[in-house]
Amino acid sequence: MQKADSALLAAMRSIRERIALACNRAERHESDVTLVAVSKTVSAEQIRVAVEAGVKVLGENRVQEAEAKMTQLADLRSQVEWHLIGHLQSNKARKAASLFDVVQSVDDESLAVRLNRIAEEEGKRLPVLIEVNLAGEASKSGVALSEALPLMSIIRHLPALELRGLMTVPPFLENPEDVRPFFRQLRALRDQALNAGLDSCTQLSMGMSHDFEVAIEEGATLVRIGTALFGARTYTL
Ligand SMILES: *Cc1c(COP(=O)(O)O)cnc(C)c1O
Repeated sequence: MQKADSALLAAMRSIRERIALACNRAERHESDVTLVAVSKTVSAEQIRVAVEAGVKVLGENRVQEAEAKMTQLADLRSQVEWHLIGHLQSNKARKAASLFDVVQSVDDESLAVRLNRIAEEEGKRLPVLIEVNLAGEASKSGVALSEALPLMSIIRHLPALELRGLMTVPPFLENPEDVRPFFRQLRALRDQALNAGLDSCTQLSMGMSHDFEVAIEEGATLVRIGTALFGARTYTL
């Protein structure tokens, strides 16, 4: 069940407050944390309400689903960024590179090389994040921790890609405090990249409905929130 408009607006206010409080605790500026409203399975109508309530970035995990909604919401195109946060198959790379403003889920060299070639052909520079699979979970995509820096050095030499930072989906643990070490690990990796001279690698996309406050305390700059904003997903699209 998707939320009624009033419930969505209330959820939005509550999330904004929780983001502000977490920033406060961490002595960070609210403006350094961007809410990515994860709109997979959410209808275009609901997304429109969220954008009217101030959402500036939308996260989708499937190229085709996103394309359909982008068409329905074409009039909002200049007001929002669309980020791809799900695994990208190489045969959808061309479509993804032309539709999305940011691809957060780059996780191997051949995909990076392909995206670079496509972006070059299209005469654009595509901002990307590297997805890191910190716990080595077989069920999740993302590059292994030990492969992250090598992949960063490769992307650095791909002129049509702009490496903006790192993304992770850590294990789901009941107590969000238990996720904190993973967020710390991603931040340490980002700091290593900055120390190695990868100056553009500043963003940390980490934290979801269940654990975004801990992620903000650990330095998240993009929090990806779905269910806490739109309600439980029904997967009937
Ligand atoms: C679905 C999804 C989210 C949002 O998860 P919620 O728990 O609903 O907030 C965040 N990141 C990724 C990569 C996702 O696929």
